[in-house]
Amino acid sequence: MKRMIPLLLSVFVLLCACQKKDTAVQKTLFTMDTVMELKIWGKDADAAVGQITTLLNRLDKTWNASSDASVPGMLRADPDVQFDEEAARVLQRAEEFRQRTDGAFNPHMHAVSQVWGFYEEEHHVPSPEQIAQAMEKDQWDLGAAIKGYAGQEAVKLLSDLDIDRAMLNLGGNVQTYGEKPGGAPWEIAIRDPDNDSGYVGIVKVEGTASVVTSGDYQRFFELDGKRYHHILDPETGCPAESGLRSVTVICRDGMTADCLSTALFVMGAEKAAVFWRESDDFQMVMILTDGRILATENAGLSGCEFEVISR
Ligand code: AMP
Ligand code: MG
Repeated sequence: MKRMIPLLLSVFVLLCACQKKDTAVQKTLFTMDTVMELKIWGKDADAAVGQITTLLNRLDKTWNASSDASVPGMLRADPDVQFDEEAARVLQRAEEFRQRTDGAFNPHMHAVSQVWGFYEEEHHVPSPEQIAQAMEKDQWDLGAAIKGYAGQEAVKLLSDLDIDRAMLNLGGNVQTYGEKPGGAPWEIAIRDPDNDSGYVGIVKVEGTASVVTSGDYQRFFELDGKRYHHILDPETGCPAESGLRSVTVICRDGMTADCLSTALFVMGAEKAAVFWRESDDFQMVMILTDGRILATENAGLSGCEFEVISR
């Protein structure tokens, strides 16, 4: 038995070591007006959680359209103000997505969101005149892009550290990083629009990917039995009525996923399918108001019945 003790001890130490390696460092935080969850595995996981928290808080401060000290706030005061390279690049990319989506993604809707009361949570239905005046203001708001951008910037931090893998849930924007053990894919649930703890299906992705959902349940109010949600049709200045409840975009690039999920929601299923056929950088899953689920052929959706959109 005496001889067995060192052997048992070494097995115990080995087991502990394996367990430690496979335990994630986790953190829940509230920033960018949403709850976020970081789950990171690897030697430098503590450092990564710290660096990503700093990144998210910095991007929140820089891009919060309601703050006069943010980039959108400073542009309201002086349209010619100059920014650092990063801010200039983000603004430029947002303009490119506006062009690519024929205006369905419009990063100039701050005043319009404001007249609907989506920022102050003082919701009301504005008059057509109020909407028209707000549209003319043309004020920057990158709320539809920055969480996705944050995901891709977090990936850059992770790749500079000793990290095995990570799953970052940035308020409905999921960013995965690295491979799961055994090469198993990451599984990301697609939320049931009518049930905040239910899901309709699962999207499987491999390695580093961005899975971003825009949905009419994420921020809304109801009046006289009608739902008014936060994704605005830039043509009308009103919540988009495109026949969709949600669009999930699966993509390698976070900002692309975020901008496109918002734009595709505005377009509706038919235009979104045409847009997808003309593109080669994303897959998508759409939940329609009639309950149908549509998914592009390589979206990796399972666990539900759905119609396939093919090339
Ligand atoms: P998301 O949840 O990513 O779809 O972004 C929605 C947020 O983006 C809203 O809360 C607004 O701040 C802003 N937004 C609303 N409609 C649009 C639009 N058509 N294009 C770009 N940003 C929008
Ligand atoms: Mg978006």
